[in-house]
Amino acid sequence: TPRIIPKEVHRISPDLVSWEAKRTCEALQKRGFQAYIVGGAVRDLLLGVTPKDFDVATDATPVEVKRAQRRALIIGKRFQLVHVIFGREIIECSTFRALEGAGVRKDAAGRVVSDNVFGEMWEDAARRDFTINALYYDPATEALYDYHHGFEDIAAKRVRMIGEPEARYREDPVRMLRAIRIAAKLGFTIDSATERPIAKMGALLKNVPAARLSDELLKILTCGQAVESMKKLRAAKLNQALMPILDLILSEPDGEKFLMLALRRTDERLAVGKKISPAFLFGTLLWPQVAKRWVHNEEKRGMGRIAALHEASVEVLATQCQQFSIQRRYQADMHDIWLMQAKLERRTGKAPWSLVQHPRYRAGYDFLLLRAMTGHVPQSLPDWWDAFSQADDDSRRSMIEAAQ
Ligand code: ATP
Ligand code: MG
Repeated sequence: TPRIIPKEVHRISPDLVSWEAKRTCEALQKRGFQAYIVGGAVRDLLLGVTPKDFDVATDATPVEVKRAQRRALIIGKRFQLVHVIFGREIIECSTFRALEGAGVRKDAAGRVVSDNVFGEMWEDAARRDFTINALYYDPATEALYDYHHGFEDIAAKRVRMIGEPEARYREDPVRMLRAIRIAAKLGFTIDSATERPIAKMGALLKNVPAARLSDELLKILTCGQAVESMKKLRAAKLNQALMPILDLILSEPDGEKFLMLALRRTDERLAVGKKISPAFLFGTLLWPQVAKRWVHNEEKRGMGRIAALHEASVEVLATQCQQFSIQRRYQADMHDIWLMQAKLERRTGKAPWSLVQHPRYRAGYDFLLLRAMTGHVPQSLPDWWDAFSQADDDSRRSMIEAAQ
């Protein structure tokens, strides 16, 4: 049975709860189901932070959830979830899952459901990774349900595994990365029993599908504390072998400097509420590879400067993106950003005029800045583009003449 913490004690401000999350819970509760806000959102609420997205857990089946909401989509096969849609806002709604090993494929009402094993609320709580991620908040009563002393751990700023850490890492090695990311993001420490096995279990990450690692990597890079996360990942020796892509970058000359600079810039942008595009991030991660091939294609294969870069980009996208399972939808933007690095060198004729109109110009310029900061190109180059993009037509003409 959970400890029920009243609002006078947990002090969650109802104003931080999105209207959409409240509506989703109300609609289910009105039909006699249980419905709670769960996971990262509750963690944020307790820390007084506005959550970026809300997850809801319920004893209603996906079909029942869909029926209770005006607009909703059932997604996923193995783990069905329901996306409750309010314009651009989406509330992810999941049915309580049963503990593993039960073997019974039945829902809360006892019905057999294909690949989704539904269970009780306490089982759902026990399946979650850390105590601070297993808190349930009812927006109607404002009560907080705590099965694993997560409330205490939030107060103690501690990431602690539910159950036996080694067994839980074996079940899902990605939890090692999650522990480090969540601790870095929140400024928490990892409980010693939770941290200890990580040193010797890192190799298990090799068995995790590349697509999942790449998803988690993106979360690490955009958590707002990427530099801190990366330091901790390396201290725990999780950066090598487990994330081949990082290994590859760090093995390049300057790879480390370039990566850390890119991460610091990312953290700074997120701190002031700016957006980060995954294409830009993956673009920086793979740039040392592209740069190496660019030089090779130009010097050893006698290709022109732009053609050499184009070819390098195509090669890297074809090999690395597949290996590291970087989603295809980012690849066109990565190519544009990279190719612009050659185009930004040409400051003659009509080219600069159209380049500043390019939809990816801003990203290409930011990328050039990063290269200037690492000493790969003179700072005068991004400075010139900065001035050019802001100048009027007459000044632009004389800038181009002066650059000849
Ligand atoms: P954030 O969204 O800030 O990255 P989060 O804790 O919300 O953090 P999600 O990946 O959105 O992370 O997952 C939502 C919830 O699902 C978690 O809070 C946790 O309860 C549960 N969860 C996610 N991944 C796992 C996992 N690998 N093992 C067990 N439970 C998990
Ligand atoms: Mg979340």
